[in-house]
Amino acid sequence: MTDYADASAVESVAADWPVTFLECRTRAHNWRPLDDLHNTFYHVHTVTERCGRCKGERTRDEGERGEILSDWGYDMKPGYYLEGIGRIAGASRNVLRRVMRERGNGRVTVVSGLQAKAEVPRTVLRDERQRASA
Ligand SMILES: [Zn+2]
Repeated sequence: MTDYADASAVESVAADWPVTFLECRTRAHNWRPLDDLHNTFYHVHTVTERCGRCKGERTRDEGERGEILSDWGYDMKPGYYLEGIGRIAGASRNVLRRVMRERGNGRVTVVSGLQAKAEVPRTVLRDERQRASA
């Protein structure tokens, strides 16, 4: 059975994380090609990518025809993996999104009404469409 982290444990560890870790954990990594080592004896490309935000790296083997030969192996920066608090999912993941926003870099735009269609939340537009078609 997987142990899940409780929200208060996540809240306290997330306070110490760099914002980049929070962004990668809530919005996914930003993988970019870093290296491609072609071993002509084994006919294998060992491909390495690095995340542009958290600087974690992942590596896997691919064949000369492009086929995938291994799973990704991950080499993350110290502190990215948490020992002993369990898997972060559900309400605990909500905590990460909220903390990321609170510690974010000013990209939040505040709107107070319905001045323009683009400012209406997607969930509100979806609910209006569902009401109209009912
Ligand atoms: Zn990352």
